[in-house]
Amino acid sequence: MGSRMLSYAEGDDSHFLEACSLCSKSLGHNSDIFMYRGNNPFCSQECRQEQIEIDDASDKKLRVSLKKSRETNKKSAKSNVQTGTLLVA
Ligand SMILES: [Zn+2]
Repeated sequence: MGSRMLSYAEGDDSHFLEACSLCSKSLGHNSDIFMYRGNNPFCSQECRQEQIEIDDASDKKLRVSLKKSRETNKKSAKSNVQTGTLLVA
């Protein structure tokens, strides 16, 4: 039961404000909502803090992969300049 309602909620963009991003607890309209990074609602400071710590950990991983993609970007930036010159001329 309720599976049809669940898939409807997943496709609804406003759904993200209705449940805690961490524990998926329902957020009532009159209860406190702790926002984080603009679009992640949490039912409590504890849940938000836990998400911050998770993000901190994944940020460190992200930094490593950013370093790699920056080298790739350098190459594609070069070819972008050549394309730009062609367009101007
Ligand atoms: Zn929560």
